[in-house]
Amino acid sequence: MRWEGERKSENLEDRRSMGSRPMVVGGLGTLIVLLIGALMGIDPRQLQQVMNNAPGPGGGGGQAVERELTPEEVRSGEFVATILAFTEEVWGEQFRRAGETYVPPKMVLFADAVQTGCGNAPSAVGPFYCPADRTVYLDPTFFQELEQKLGGSQAEFSQAYVIAHEIGHHVQNLLGYSDIVNQKRQTSSKEEFNRWSVRLELQADYLAGVWAHYGQQKFNFVEPGDVDAAMQSAKAIGDDRLQKNSRGFTSPESYTHGTSAQRTKWFRLGLQTGDLGRMKELFEMPFEEL
Ligand SMILES: [Zn+2]
Repeated sequence: MRWEGERKSENLEDRRSMGSRPMVVGGLGTLIVLLIGALMGIDPRQLQQVMNNAPGPGGGGGQAVERELTPEEVRSGEFVATILAFTEEVWGEQFRRAGETYVPPKMVLFADAVQTGCGNAPSAVGPFYCPADRTVYLDPTFFQELEQKLGGSQAEFSQAYVIAHEIGHHVQNLLGYSDIVNQKRQTSSKEEFNRWSVRLELQADYLAGVWAHYGQQKFNFVEPGDVDAAMQSAKAIGDDRLQKNSRGFTSPESYTHGTSAQRTKWFRLGLQTGDLGRMKELFEMPFEEL
C-alpha cells in the first residue's frame, strides 16, 4: 500500500508510551471470557461485561511507566494517522455529496489496556469503536496476532481494511444504523439479535470496501497483492473460521460478525461498486441472502 508522504490526521492520540502492564488480571473467569471473546468476535453485550471486569491502565496493581516508542511503533503510528486522514477525506466527500456533514471520529492507539467512554478494555478484545465517545481504539500488536494466530495478513492494506471497518461503525453511528440495531436489543431474542449484529458487521465490511473504492480513485494507494491480503484477513475473522479453529465445530446461531464467505463478499462488493445506496439494501434484504 502506498501511503507515505500523505497527510496525517490530527484526530489520532497515541497512548502507547504511557502503556502499563496490569499485574493482576482479575481472575481466571475474566481471562476465559476475554479469550473466548477475542476468538469469537465480540458481541456488544459481552464486550460491555468484559470491559467492566477488565483492569484499567495502571490499575490492578500495575505501575504506569512512560517509555519511548520504538522506530517501528513510530512508523505504525504514522501509518494509522495517514489511513485515518484517508477516511476523513473519503467520508467527508461522500457526506458532502449527500448534503450532510461528516464529523470525523477520534482514534486512540494503546498498549495492553485502555480507558474508554464504554469502560475499560484490554487488548484482547481487538480493535473496536465506542459510540459513546465516538472513538476507535486499537492496539496495533493486534495485526501481528491477526497474521500469526488467526491466519490473516498484516500487510498494510489489510491493516487499513481493519481500520476502515471500525470507521465504518462510526459512519453507521452517524447515519443511525447503530441505533436501529441497539433498539432491537430490547425486543429480540439472543438469536435474533445476533442476526442484527451480523448485518451491522457486514455493513461495516461493505463500508470498508466503499472507502477503499473512493480512496483508490483519489489516492491510488492500492498496490499489487494488496486486495488479496485484505481478503485473506476478512476470511480469517469470519465466525465460522474462528469457531472451527477454536473448538472444532460451528454454531451459526451464535455468529455475530458473519462467515468468512459473507465478510469477503461484502468487502469485495463495496470495493468494486462504491455504491452507497446498497448500504440500505444490505440492511433490509432477507437474512438468508446476505
Ligand atoms: Zn465490527
